[in-house]
Amino acid sequence: MERRELVIIGAGPAGLTAAIYGRRAGLDVLLLEKGVPGGQINMTDEIENWPGVKHATGSELGLMFREHAEKFNTEFRDCTVEKIEVRDDMRIVITDKGEIEAEAVIIASGAYFRKLGCKGEEEHIGAGVSYCAVCDGAFFEDLEIAVVGGGNTAVEEAVYLTNFASKVYIIHRRDEFRADRAAVGRALSNPRIEPIWNTVLEEIAGDGMVEKLVIKNVKTGEISDLPVSGVFMFVGQAPYDEFFKGVVECARGGWVVTNEDMETSIEGIYAAGDVRNKHLRQVVTASADGAIAAMTASAFINEQVHLRSTLLDPEKVLAFFYSSIEETQVQISNTVESFSKEHSAGIVLIDGYRNSRMVNKLGILEMPILVELQKGKIARSEIVSSTTDIAGFLA
Ligand SMILES: Cc1cc2nc3c(=O)[nH]c(=O)nc-3n(C[C@H](O)[C@H](O)[C@H](O)COP(=O)(O)OP(=O)(O)OC[C@H]3O[C@@H](n4cnc5c(N)ncnc54)[C@H](O)[C@@H]3O)c2cc1C
Repeated sequence: MERRELVIIGAGPAGLTAAIYGRRAGLDVLLLEKGVPGGQINMTDEIENWPGVKHATGSELGLMFREHAEKFNTEFRDCTVEKIEVRDDMRIVITDKGEIEAEAVIIASGAYFRKLGCKGEEEHIGAGVSYCAVCDGAFFEDLEIAVVGGGNTAVEEAVYLTNFASKVYIIHRRDEFRADRAAVGRALSNPRIEPIWNTVLEEIAGDGMVEKLVIKNVKTGEISDLPVSGVFMFVGQAPYDEFFKGVVECARGGWVVTNEDMETSIEGIYAAGDVRNKHLRQVVTASADGAIAAMTASAFINEQVHLRSTLLDPEKVLAFFYSSIEETQVQISNTVESFSKEHSAGIVLIDGYRNSRMVNKLGILEMPILVELQKGKIARSEIVSSTTDIAGFLA
């Protein structure tokens, strides 16, 4: 089976940034992408909030990211990841083009906005139809726009959009919002917001840019036109989670749960970008996640590779495990180190606090401990605290 150090799934801003950081850290990086590198930003013509670039189209920015990753010789592969598995402590990435064994995996498969599916929606994406208020709100300064939806996101984002738009209609199919009471109160007391109850969006019309919406009252059946310059759909967002469902811990909705180092519930599997359970899904946050994930993965790989070659591969090795946060254990480790040097005993010192995965892997329950490993298994061990103990163990 093909064996790689770091396999990254998804070449959006998160995956491409992870590749840049991974390559610069000297890792062997394989980046898997089922579509066009660049990810979701390829769908927009306006990016104005990537620092340092005042304006770019999404595909321009995506290409810059890609070229940057290529500069560091990232290997790209055009394939779809179907599953991730953990076998014998290794992570296996199963794609439509074969299986890859990876020391570490970064899930950066992103997310997608649910579409409403009405007439005119697809052709006006990026031309007045938007799914992201933070991304596109500023393009509607002093214009009238509409929001579709009735949940928390729709109601809160409508309030946010009043920072730009002169009027925000909220089109909702029922006669009350599903959002929480505080959010509804803020929206309904905002003079720039006007709810349009019991109404659905039938069509988005306009020559090039959005010019009007065709809406239908579900109670009366009446059809009318609503002239607006833009419409924001808040009918849901979901992660691309088919290949990791049931493998890593996810929050409601399928979003991957990580800590701030981008570690998932499974050792050696990290997640970065929109696929994570987080608040702000943007290029800048996806890239930041990617950088962190790559550096955490790099530390993990180095630790694994180093520890494996030091502790698990040799026929026989003596190792002393201690905790660097216990002063007495640090003192004993100094004694062991001096003893080892004096007697050329070749004892390897391992900070078990920082390398807890190895401690668990070897089944060490107590520290400080001197162990003799034979082919990666503990042949014998002893709690030591003095040179006499050490000498006794080695005798
Ligand atoms: C229309 C639009 C406008 C936007 N405007 C802005 C903006 O102005 N500013 C801003 O900061 N953000 C904007 N965003 C949000 C921004 O694009 C995302 O936050 C960002 O792209 C997330 O990056 P990511 O790498 O996490 O995921 P993505 O960009 O979604 O990339 C994930 C990649 O993974 C690939 N993938 C998924 N599943 C698999 C699989 N099984 N196998 C292989 N590959 C897979 C996908 O094909 C995709 O290329 C916009 C989004 C949209 C849709």
